[in-house]
Amino acid sequence: MTPANEPSFRDSVDIMFNRAVALMDLPPGLEEKIRVCNATYTVRFGVRLRGQIQTFTGYRSVHSEHMEPVKGGIRFSLGVNQDEVEALAALMTYKCALVEAPFGGSKGGLCVDPRAYDEHELELITRRFAYELIKRDMINPAQNVPAPDMGTGEREMSWIADQYKRMNTTDINGVACVTGKPTHAGGIQGRTEATGRGVQYALHAFFRDKDGMKKAGFESGLDGKRVVVQGLGNVGYHAAKFLSEEDGCKIVAIIERDGALYDENGLDVEAVRDWIAKHDGVATYPNAKHEPDGAKLLEADCDILIPAALEGVIHLDNAKGVKARLVIEAANGPVTAGADEILRNKGVVIIPDMYANAGGVTVSYFEWVKNLSHIRFGRMQRRQEETRHQLVVDELERLSADSGIGWELSPNFKEKYLRGAGELELVRSGLDDTMQTAYQSMANVWHGRDDNIDLRTASYLVAIEKVAASYRAKGL
Ligand code: GLU
Repeated sequence: MTPANEPSFRDSVDIMFNRAVALMDLPPGLEEKIRVCNATYTVRFGVRLRGQIQTFTGYRSVHSEHMEPVKGGIRFSLGVNQDEVEALAALMTYKCALVEAPFGGSKGGLCVDPRAYDEHELELITRRFAYELIKRDMINPAQNVPAPDMGTGEREMSWIADQYKRMNTTDINGVACVTGKPTHAGGIQGRTEATGRGVQYALHAFFRDKDGMKKAGFESGLDGKRVVVQGLGNVGYHAAKFLSEEDGCKIVAIIERDGALYDENGLDVEAVRDWIAKHDGVATYPNAKHEPDGAKLLEADCDILIPAALEGVIHLDNAKGVKARLVIEAANGPVTAGADEILRNKGVVIIPDMYANAGGVTVSYFEWVKNLSHIRFGRMQRRQEETRHQLVVDELERLSADSGIGWELSPNFKEKYLRGAGELELVRSGLDDTMQTAYQSMANVWHGRDDNIDLRTASYLVAIEKVAASYRAKGL
């Protein structure tokens, strides 16, 4: 939650937008058109639970329809409100533009504590919310395609897809009305890990950028970097897991709702995740030190800070204390506009949310395309690719034998080369390519100007230019 003495989340996003747009030469009318949120629908509905009717409030906000469908998750949390949903919808517009996912921006939210209900009750609530949105075309494969966000996941997305199909029995593309579904219900492999995987790919891109590294004061790559992760939900968990298991990072602290765990030698991410699942928190975890005031660890000595939970967690009161040289915003809006200025002045580099957590919507895009094409990626090519590779291997082995050289291909090479790409490999490769291309477009602006702008402003400049071009093409 954004602290009371600071601009609201929505205002914070606008402040950042305005900072970038001031450097552009857009007609004032167009600038305003891009900034404003097109529409926000509020719905109140009742569900009979435990013998009485309970009323819930939900929102679906559409920020920009310069491309359709519009896209963005649905959040279940007691903190949901119109300002938050509108801020998140605006970020979706810029995020999709930056990574070239052909969508406008939208976001939804339901004021509910999902932990207070059992599975059956949650299904009733979710289906009823979906019903309200579907009947107004606010869930529709051609117009508005939700996805998971905080408090929702595969399970909720499959209820939503099923609800849409019940109400639109002849829509052959019905399953594309929502993404983030389980694979047995039209989902795509790699969607659950996608946002965390995207954070990892974003860091790979950053640590390939010598100028960017210099601006953050890094001389060496990711290996051995000390990382603090705030929030071990889906995004934080996958990011921490991949960075520690594959890139040699040390996760020195994990901040959760009931305090933080810390260990200079690096925490076992998998073990902490299992502990949280069984004990509903980290406080009793036996293999690390525990700090009840978890937020203190945002100011811990580390190289990289990954806020992966709520908005507004780095604010005017704690920004000065942040010691990381690199902050990567795995969550949406974790740094307030005021904190952003403090960090910038300290020389901290921030990899902004609109880029850092775009892995989720990128793989959602792949899922939507898969649903519309009604065929799994790789199904037509995989065996053909393997057969052609086998031809090359056979020929190399024949040449080696016939010439008497006696070279042998290593089994490791053969195994890797012969295996055609399945859906997961294709998804990861598409995601990696997306993250690299988007990084390059931001970095060109970041390093290519002489007014010393920050990476967030660069990302806004790229995104706004794309949205503007799309409006211009429509004659606006
Ligand atoms: N909720 C995610 C986000 O904030 C994913 C949205 C999507 O996949 O459409 O980006």
